[in-house]
Amino acid sequence: MSESEFMLSWTANPFANGSAWLRADFHLHTRADREFAYPAATDEQRNIFVAQYVDSLQRAGIRVGLIANHNKFDLGEFKALRKRAKSIGIFLLPGVELSVNDGTHGIHILIAFGNVTDEVWKKNIEESRSPKNQTITSG
Ligand SMILES: [Zn+2]
Repeated sequence: MSESEFMLSWTANPFANGSAWLRADFHLHTRADREFAYPAATDEQRNIFVAQYVDSLQRAGIRVGLIANHNKFDLGEFKALRKRAKSIGIFLLPGVELSVNDGTHGIHILIAFGNVTDEVWKKNIEESRSPKNQTITSG
């Protein structure tokens, strides 16, 4: 198997021959985060952002990433990033960085969501908006 054939098969499934070491970053922010400076107002600028972001992950050798913006999840942006990343063998998980203003520096918790289908996302979002599920509030 040539090196290029190996890389193609590895991109499709890095675990084809069992376990594999992968570089992962479970603390990624995107332009949807208020602390991330990247002006992108038009669709074209947003597409450029997605391409540059995924290219940066590839250059850094990242194969698994968690998009975890502060207290916010942008489904549209995530889907665009995931689609582009998947095309070059990078696996992105949805998530959020939950920030609580307590103590000297606050508390930040990284949360990874499951890699679910669009139908499950839609159902979960609808259920989260139901009055019976409004038990967590912020002060
Ligand atoms: Zn962070």
